[in-house]
Amino acid sequence: MARIAVLLNDRCHPKECQGECQAYCPPVRMGQDCIVWGEDGKPVISEVLCIGCGICVHKCPFSAIKILNTPEAAEEEIVHRYGLNTFRLYRLPIPRPRGVVGLIGPNGIGKSTAIRLLSGTEKPNLGRYQDPPDWEEIVRHYRGTELQGHFQRLSRGEITAELKPQYVDQLSQRTGVALGEYVGESGGDAAAALAALGLTHRSDVPLETLSGGELQLAAIARSLATRADLYFFDEPSNYLDIVQRLNVARVLRELGDRASVVVVEHDLVLLDYIADQAHLLYGEEAAFGVVTSPLPMRTAINTYLGGYLREENVRFRPEPIVFTSHPPKPASQRTPRVTFGRLVKRFPRFALEVGGGTLYKGEIVGIVGPNSVGKTTFVRMLAGMESPDEGSPPSTLRVSYKPQYLRATGAWTLNERVASLRTGEGFDAELFQRELVPTLRLGSLLDVPLPDLSGGELQRAAVGLALARPADLYLLDEPSAYLDSNERMNVARLIRRIVEREASTALIVDHDVYFLDLTSDALMVFRAKDEQKTAGEGEGPFPMREGMNRLLRDVEITFRRDEESHRPRINKVGSVLDREQRSRGEYYYEPAA
Ligand code: ADP
Ligand code: SF4
Repeated sequence: MARIAVLLNDRCHPKECQGECQAYCPPVRMGQDCIVWGEDGKPVISEVLCIGCGICVHKCPFSAIKILNTPEAAEEEIVHRYGLNTFRLYRLPIPRPRGVVGLIGPNGIGKSTAIRLLSGTEKPNLGRYQDPPDWEEIVRHYRGTELQGHFQRLSRGEITAELKPQYVDQLSQRTGVALGEYVGESGGDAAAALAALGLTHRSDVPLETLSGGELQLAAIARSLATRADLYFFDEPSNYLDIVQRLNVARVLRELGDRASVVVVEHDLVLLDYIADQAHLLYGEEAAFGVVTSPLPMRTAINTYLGGYLREENVRFRPEPIVFTSHPPKPASQRTPRVTFGRLVKRFPRFALEVGGGTLYKGEIVGIVGPNSVGKTTFVRMLAGMESPDEGSPPSTLRVSYKPQYLRATGAWTLNERVASLRTGEGFDAELFQRELVPTLRLGSLLDVPLPDLSGGELQRAAVGLALARPADLYLLDEPSAYLDSNERMNVARLIRRIVEREASTALIVDHDVYFLDLTSDALMVFRAKDEQKTAGEGEGPFPMREGMNRLLRDVEITFRRDEESHRPRINKVGSVLDREQRSRGEYYYEPAA
């Protein structure tokens, strides 16, 4: 049986190892060229000679090799292969003439690859990276399928595709270009697109001074203003706050009413609202991905949450994700952890005021609100990293803080970091090894230098390090950022389990509604006091439902619950349910207890 052998190129450092992969490979020891050295000094693994023993995988000090069995998908369903010992994709999503198609799947499974192939940014090679087929052959390959016409028109230049790229931070490299000018390059109605995304007043601002969230909105605005037959949006919610996400959901939904749109998104509340149907993707990160047939949107997410796709006999996770209510416990069953008074912080151009509140043992408080209104400043005051100008934060708490921005300083590995923590700051190495490493899938990352880790891997590592520090109060700033939807739900459950078990307390700043719903008992709500965001205020904690009501009233969006999974779903604006809920002031439904 043939194998899939993948070399994670960024992880392989042949000058820093002893060539263990080759030295220990049994076929090599029998005289076969199963692993030879390439021109770049890195191993080239023969998938034909490999016997799948996995020895090289374990011997590589940088966890740079993956060896897998070929997937269930038939070999002729291969769409693209980047090269030898690299990622390959089986099957493709099918864009519809009108409406929005979603793609759901883990990081590194081929979603962006699929988008590049469908948009014509990359030509599918049907697996033949050394001898790529021409368009005629590609069209012939898809004869009789819905993709035949697509590739035919794409090859003749009859389809124009617009792609909102995943990595919007790169836009800041375009120095000296104003936001309005950038969106204007689309040649379409830039003013309307800027207005739809709330950017009109920022139109003269140069790209290099915009925040991550504004760059994301700029990229979306530009795509929106571009005339195209087919639109692709790769992770439109990254860097956006909860309010911006809900607005983008509305804008993309409207685009889908008049054009063909494909969206990759890990915030499932958002995708659920935007898309009419979705393809799930499964496989092995960085090695191979298989695209499933399309499912109606509600079924797609419920199947993903349920963990099993019967039609293709695919398991996404061992057990289903269940949304349950966390109603406030009776006062007699709650033990206060800490009561804090009013806190005020003044910066030269920003002032924050947070009303006092009480946090309880064994409970998690979500912090919601737009960006730049002081959520992180509040968390940093509680963590003792920022001193308030009025009021004093509780000082007797043991606090463990995961900052919003993760920096991989130096060439440390996670193992080295853990070893250094063990001696100094108080670190539960046993908990880390026993529970956090397996749940957060850190095992293969322990010896990798931190700068080699992807955003999602770094986030998982940071969450692990923060939770392994024994603390009364965990302060987690945007733990869902960079994680795929499966990892988000995994991390949500882990945080709840640890906080409940240890009777500690957690404050979580996040923008993903599923993540907040799965973790939080209560909510603190932050808002801007003026349009320029020169002042912010925070209130709460409120019970979950009241907190969401306060947030959603401002953005005029209502949520119902899915009958099967009890997950929150955005109501279509103006639908009977939406109007009825709004008239009752009921913006957010709690699931049954
Ligand atoms: P997703 O969008 O689902 O996160 P991607 O399509 O970005 O997944 O990537 C799938 C895999 O393909 C990753 O392991 C990535 O490193 C690899 N890959 C992407 N582009 C190339 C390329 N040009 N050459 C080799 N490998 C690539
Ligand atoms: Fe050699 Fe394959 Fe075993 Fe790796 S998994 S050591 S390449 S036979």
